[in-house]
Amino acid sequence: MTRVFSGIQPTGHLTLGNYLGAMRRWAEVDQHRSDALFCIVDLHALTVDHDPARVCRLSRQAATLLLATGLDPEVCTAFMQSHVDEHTRLSYLLECVATDGEMRRMIQYKEKAARERERGGSVRLSLLTYPVLMAADILAYGADEVPVGHDQAQHVELTRDLAVRFNQRYGHTFVVPKVTLPAVAARVMNLQDPTKKMGKSDESGAAGVVYLLDEPDVVRKKVMRAVTDSGQEVVYDRETRPGLANLLEILAACTDGNPESLASVYDSYGALKKDTAEAVVEVLRPVQARHRELCADPTYVEGVLRDGAEKARAMARPIVDTAYRAIGLLPPV
Ligand code: ATP
Ligand code: MG
Repeated sequence: MTRVFSGIQPTGHLTLGNYLGAMRRWAEVDQHRSDALFCIVDLHALTVDHDPARVCRLSRQAATLLLATGLDPEVCTAFMQSHVDEHTRLSYLLECVATDGEMRRMIQYKEKAARERERGGSVRLSLLTYPVLMAADILAYGADEVPVGHDQAQHVELTRDLAVRFNQRYGHTFVVPKVTLPAVAARVMNLQDPTKKMGKSDESGAAGVVYLLDEPDVVRKKVMRAVTDSGQEVVYDRETRPGLANLLEILAACTDGNPESLASVYDSYGALKKDTAEAVVEVLRPVQARHRELCADPTYVEGVLRDGAEKARAMARPIVDTAYRAIGLLPPV
């Protein structure tokens, strides 16, 4: 059976981008057609300036929201990255296979490092090595597929390179995974600046970010205020009309439609925004309702994470142990 792995960082409140780009597919499709693992990748949240209490709170919230989107712990494995030591054990071996040049070429590293410097902070070494830990997250489980948004495609490509290199040098150890992207909304853009990705940790762009737990009226306000492009006609063109294209993609993703055909349905920006706002409100409604129920039962979420970590550990340990032997480390007696 195909094994699927994906993760989400507790770096901020989860967004519509996270949902349409990744989480919705995990719940609706991936968990049912495969042997799937979904992870709150909390160690990755330590790669930038953070408040420890907030990371802890956001981790719990992300886990609750993952279950609220419909992940079924009877069907898939949901767990916290920091509860399974195999991720960091394997990450070190992969650091011995990766090069510093390939780390510095990662787009996300360049963007996030620039953001940290702008804030007057320093860049943590772990921000540079983050893609190696992400490769370990995936390779430790022998995952065949990694369903993510477009911004993570480069990191999955690196994971493939590291797996192939390790296998060539030390003998076949890892499955070489492939990325899967959603048909639409693989890159949801910020509503106030459609040239930049909607991201949960980018506080400077928060007005253009729809959060999964935003009240319906807040969602409506944010969508109605979305920056659109000059011109009157509703057309779908990501290059020249990025604001409009973003709204059309969000509407298409929420209604299982197609952005090009939706463009021909509308003759005003106002009507498009109104329908998009309502479609987003409707998509978020059941997630928010289930989230409220789950918040009333925190021991359930804790139990899911405990069982998930146990299952995940049992899957990862033999693969990581094989890698330790393959690279030349003496097994403990
Ligand atoms: P951060 O700003 O901390 O990097 P993020 O919003 O990018 O947060 P991640 O935890 O890095 O979220 O990513 C979780 C998943 O959501 C990944 O699969 C990523 O590709 C996807 N994703 C994130 N933002 C978007 C977006 N704007 N559109 C589509 N998919 C997205
Ligand atoms: Mg990200």
